Amino acid sequence: MAVLRPLLDLQHIDTALMQLRHRLATLAERTALVTATSVGAGLKKEIVTVTVQQKSAQGDIDALEASNKIFEAAIAKFGKQLKTIIAPREAEALQHEIAMATEERSLNDDRELILLELAEQYDRQLVELTTRLTRHEIVIEQANQALTQVIAECDLSHTELDAKRAGAVSAVDPKLVLFYESKRSRKKTAVIADLHGATCQSCHLDLSKVELSVLKKLPESELPECPNCDCLLVL
Ligand SMILES: [Zn+2]
Repeated sequence: MAVLRPLLDLQHIDTALMQLRHRLATLAERTALVTATSVGAGLKKEIVTVTVQQKSAQGDIDALEASNKIFEAAIAKFGKQLKTIIAPREAEALQHEIAMATEERSLNDDRELILLELAEQYDRQLVELTTRLTRHEIVIEQANQALTQVIAECDLSHTELDAKRAGAVSAVDPKLVLFYESKRSRKKTAVIADLHGATCQSCHLDLSKVELSVLKKLPESELPECPNCDCLLVL
């Protein structure tokens, strides 16, 4: 059945095209880029979170310092008043006010120290995260380039296979091409295969001697088909 041989060439090209499409859909380079981009997005999110925490800490520090300025002004004011007062009860009251303001200022100082340490910690975290992001952006760029390159290679292979396919189609009887296309639209596996020994190269099952003999005796008008997978067979 020499007439089927050129059709087998067409099937090989279509199988290669299908494998190429599958490769394009499942590129490891695409997965790598998605992973790298996701890690980059995670770092950016962390930077935003730490920046918000840092600004909040800085806002609290500013508020404590503003509060302490008020306490210091009050302490200075009461101090001045104390110098002009003679009545012991009034002096006592002022001394009490000064002591209260001093105590509050001292508490604010303690709170500010804790917040300053926290702000420093956020600063260090931001430096580290920014450094990691800068390095990681190179990884993303490399992953992007690798994906672009492999897609370009696949596109080139596709163009070459398309050209080969056009040549292969022109070598087959148009009626047979139509039959092939019609069968191909219904089958997910190969439409035509050859035999290695008695093994169909589409379903990889062995044909019996009787089955082979029947196929070989078919008239020219009938196309031999695998009894297991229904594909055309090049005998
Ligand atoms: Zn088969």
